[in-house]
Amino acid sequence: MRQSLVVANWKMNGSLASNQALLDAIKQGCQDVSHVQISICPPAVYLAQVSQLLTGSAISWGAQNVSHEAGGAFTGEIAVSMLAELQCRYVIIGHSERRSLYAESDQVVAEKFARVRNAGLIPILCVGETLSERESNQTEAVVLRQLDAVLASEGIAGFHQAVIAYEPVWAIGTGKTASREQAQAVHAVIRQHLAKQDAAVAEKIQILYGGSVKANNATELFAMPDIDGGLIGGASLQAQEFLAICKAAR
Ligand code: PEP
Repeated sequence: MRQSLVVANWKMNGSLASNQALLDAIKQGCQDVSHVQISICPPAVYLAQVSQLLTGSAISWGAQNVSHEAGGAFTGEIAVSMLAELQCRYVIIGHSERRSLYAESDQVVAEKFARVRNAGLIPILCVGETLSERESNQTEAVVLRQLDAVLASEGIAGFHQAVIAYEPVWAIGTGKTASREQAQAVHAVIRQHLAKQDAAVAEKIQILYGGSVKANNATELFAMPDIDGGLIGGASLQAQEFLAICKAAR
């Protein structure tokens, strides 16, 4: 039985004061949601603050991105060893905003995935199709291409300690959510694809759904058999909304 995981992706939002208020409220409100793993991914500059505020709680934290290089002359980049020092548990890899706005290729995403795993952190690999790809019936091909780029370099063993987030690009930050049937269908395709190589890995891996998840649609999405929680953007910035989403997880 897979435990549910709900991950907050704060994107480029927050301040020292608002982070503290948000985390105080989440820590207070999550005491009766021990059946769900919760993680917070703030902007990197706030990771030290967030780690301090969450140490001793059941909530973990992670990063939204990492360099594919180990370290050195890469101005503005952050090495995975630095995230490890701050006890990050997760690193979001290949978010569609990184792929589209910062031109991250499948190859770079695969390299980042490897860096994260080799450092003992858990990658959250984001995959998902654009609206035009969905409308031209390419959803499965796109998602499997993104998955295969990592499988080709890491093998199925790379997914032993990893999380996948299916995030249809057309649903991110748009208020449009995939229906539970649409989401379940893609999650099942992902799990079946992994199962062809290793049934145990496929059965164990948490596959999250992301894309305009709110308190009012989380229950039906999380009830689907292959949806193991969510990657939450906008709604993770409001404590009560985020807590309601966490409570909706199985
Ligand atoms: C995201 O950025 O990963 C995301 C799912 O955003 P939102 O929930 O705002 O659609």
